[in-house]
Order: sequence, then C-alpha cells, then structure tokens
Amino acid sequence: MVTNLEALIRDIKKYALDHKIPIMQDEGIDFLTTFIVKNQINTVLEIGSAIGYSAIMMALANPNLKITTIERDRERYLEAVKNIKKMDLESRITLVFHDALEANIEGKFDMIFIDAAKGQNIHFFEKYERNLTENGYIITDNMNFHGLVDKLDNEIESRNLRSLVRKIRDYRAFLVNHPNYDVELLNIGDGIAIARKK
Ligand code: SAH
Ligand code: MG
Repeated sequence: MVTNLEALIRDIKKYALDHKIPIMQDEGIDFLTTFIVKNQINTVLEIGSAIGYSAIMMALANPNLKITTIERDRERYLEAVKNIKKMDLESRITLVFHDALEANIEGKFDMIFIDAAKGQNIHFFEKYERNLTENGYIITDNMNFHGLVDKLDNEIESRNLRSLVRKIRDYRAFLVNHPNYDVELLNIGDGIAIARKK
C-alpha cells in the first residue's frame, strides 16, 4: 500500500513537471506538513489547488485533516479531482471549482494556505481572514518569487514581471505592518510567510 501511495505521488509530481504546473517544492511541503502536525491543524482552506498535490500531501500528514481547496482552471481542477480520487481522499478534500476572488466559503479553518495568483494576495487575505479560527494561521507561498523579490527593479527584464514582483513586495509590507497579526517570513522553499492572529 505504501509503495502504491508513493508511486501515485511520483506520478503527480511528474505530471506537474511535464505540464509546467508550479506545485510546491519539497522543502516547502516538508515545512507545511510538519507545521500541520506540530500545531494540530485540523482544517485547512487552500487557495490554488492546481492538480491537488499540496492538498494531498497535507491530508496525508494528518489523518484527521479536512481541506477545502479552490481552483479556477478547469483542466487543473479536473486533474485534481482524478488525483484525489486515486488517493482515496475524497472524504477529506473538498475541491471547489471557482475563482477564489468570487467564491463564498462557509465555515472557519485553523489554517488558510494562499498559493494562487501572486498579485492578488492582499485580496485573498482580506477576503478569507473571516474564515480563520481565533488562533488560526494564514500561510502564503512564493514570497521570494524565485529570488526576484529581492532583486533591483532594473535587474528584472519584463515589465509584467516587475509589476508582479512589486505586488509581492507590497504584500510583504502589508503583512509585516498588519496590526492584527504577528508575521514571520521564512526562507524555506520559495519563501513562506506565516501570519498568526494576535
Ligand atoms: N498549491 C498547489 C499549487 C498551486 S499553483 C500545489 O503546491 O500543489 C497556483 C494555482 O492557483 C494555479 O493552478 C492557478 O490556476 C490557481 N489560481 C490562480 N488564481 C486563482 C484564483 N483567483 N482562484 C482560484 N485559483 C486560482
Ligand atoms: Mg506556490
């Protein structure tokens, strides 16, 4: 059984690589799963499922964990449905096919994991913080955006990329200056932010 699970995960990672889908790096996944166990996280809301990889890894880390995860891309959503079914995790992972900026999610979650369009992070944060439990955490991936966030603007070639990188910097400033959250920025994987309600 274990080898079977491992083979399925290997297939998912290969699919992501072949289709250029930016799933979380190993280091980031290790951090996330350890964090979930250590902090007894039992409910997660994920923004940006892609093909379900990070949701699956989180679910495997804690057998009591329930995850709701939102994806707006039809092809990826359908692939996520398939993968979650193959892993037999349908009872614990709820996939929502929707634009997260417009979805309406009921209930409260111990952790909100933001890993979708990097320019929209402030909007995701502000929209979904009402879904956070009292002592919950909002975790955001790709805070370094492949090392670009700490580069000088004139070192970044394309205009679109520069604008995106500025938005990630703005989000970083928004987080560290937020009056209601304690924030830690970690140089793990592609950069992870942890915000905890004060
Ligand atoms: N968390 C995944 C990777 C997500 S990649 C993993 O590590 O396995 C980011 C995903 O967010 C993409 O699939 C993209 O389609 C989705 N996305 C971007 N903006 C979104 C939005 N506004 N609503 C829902 N999904 C969004
Ligand atoms: Mg990511």
